[in-house]
Amino acid sequence: MSKHVIEDAKRCLQCPKPMCSQGCPVNTPIRDAIRLLLDSKIAEAGKLLFDNNPLSLVCCHVCPQENQCEGHCIMGKKGMPVQISAIEQYISDYYLSIYKPEPAPTDKLNSKVAIIGSGPAGFTIAFILARKGYDITIYEGNDKTGGIMRYGIPEFRLPKRIIDRLTKTLIESGVKVRPNTTIGANLSVDDLFRDGFKAVFMGTGVWRPRKLNIKGESLGNVHFAIEYLRNPDVYSLGKRLAVIGAGNVAMDVARTAFRHGSEEVFIICNMGEDAITARTIEVEYAKIDGARFMMNKTAIEFTEEGVILADSEVYEENGIKKARPIPGTEALFLTDSIIVAISQGPRSVIVSTTTGIDIKSDGLVAVNEFGRTTREGVFASGDVVTGAKTVVEAVKVSRRVADSIDEYITEKYINGNTDYKWL
Ligand SMILES: Cc1cc2nc3c(=O)[nH]c(=O)nc-3n(C[C@H](O)[C@H](O)[C@H](O)COP(=O)(O)OP(=O)(O)OC[C@H]3O[C@@H](n4cnc5c(N)ncnc54)[C@H](O)[C@@H]3O)c2cc1C
Ligand code: SF4
Repeated sequence: MSKHVIEDAKRCLQCPKPMCSQGCPVNTPIRDAIRLLLDSKIAEAGKLLFDNNPLSLVCCHVCPQENQCEGHCIMGKKGMPVQISAIEQYISDYYLSIYKPEPAPTDKLNSKVAIIGSGPAGFTIAFILARKGYDITIYEGNDKTGGIMRYGIPEFRLPKRIIDRLTKTLIESGVKVRPNTTIGANLSVDDLFRDGFKAVFMGTGVWRPRKLNIKGESLGNVHFAIEYLRNPDVYSLGKRLAVIGAGNVAMDVARTAFRHGSEEVFIICNMGEDAITARTIEVEYAKIDGARFMMNKTAIEFTEEGVILADSEVYEENGIKKARPIPGTEALFLTDSIIVAISQGPRSVIVSTTTGIDIKSDGLVAVNEFGRTTREGVFASGDVVTGAKTVVEAVKVSRRVADSIDEYITEKYINGNTDYKWL
């Protein structure tokens, strides 16, 4: 065992009311897992973590722990918090390598559930419902599973072998996976119901890059972050790169670009440093890699030679801070390529080919507290409902939605409750 993992585990005070669990969105029972680990019961510790959160091994790599579990650890008040992420990683890595699915109950075997999308939301629903004995099929538009965990978060932050291992575990639990199958493009939600699926879950995420809507955005040297991160190897960005935006995705782009041959990367933000939304640690890593930050600059136009920038001034509108360019300050900033990293919104391929699934004004799917959409039998959670969030937030709400799907099928199809109301 890594020395620092043991040392850190021994620093845990075994608090009667562990603040770390309260700070974790999925209330990970980390204190109890640490106790089991130190008592040489690592498999039990792993089961505890996995049963609570099947994506524990992902979360410990990518969660913003400083605001969640570690940020709440009592030891952090006077010094370093217990390094919960490292301990969780050690336990969960071990557990997944020995994991064998337990035999599931057989009363749900005739109940088929379709899961559209294999990101954190789809994976969570699949793990929970497979454990309950449902007959699950995952439909994934990409050639591999994992959603943003595979096609967005870079390898140096989340190794792809973890997604492969989770996928293998799902398949061993009886889950069927149909890759390269975009629901709404060819097969539709109606086809799924026709073929006997009792519930359909949409965990399709947000994959449509937001545009800046400025001149030059369609030029050959301009790209969108989410498209670049999907497969950086196929891009020739040249040596000097401008990244527009200062969130976590922008940091991933900058750090990935350095690892693919860019020599100078400039992160351009239209406001001051307090507008940087990326985690402090990601900003620090980007700086270590060599990224330079240009604050209070607004991109006015993209050209083949680079980006025309203007100084910006910040003003408030209805309590919200905004930036506008100061006329007369425009100047061309020379770069080989530009990547726009200003967030993503949902695609409409399913709702535009299916009747009865309402969306809100921002294009996100409308659901009630149980993840029920406006169409009976169709559930949704994850980014397609909340907008861009985090892996652990997708797990949190999807756990609840999995229970809601279970309750719906049990009441309507197994108990035959004719008074059962959808909404
Ligand atoms: C670059 C980047 C870095 C990030 N870094 C972090 C991080 O460090 N920590 C963190 O917690 N969160 C991070 N996030 C956010 C996190 O990844 C998301 O919040 C999370 O993946 C959302 O899960 P999801 O299941 O809702 O959607 P997704 O992960 O987006 O998965 C949706 C899946 O549905 C599939 N799909 C979509 N439409 C269809 C269709 N019609 N038919 C079939 N399949 C379809 C997609 O191909 C995809 O596989 C990051 C996001 C990005 C973009
Ligand atoms: S799931 Fe995330 S926030 Fe919760 S204990 Fe694990 S690393 Fe911390």
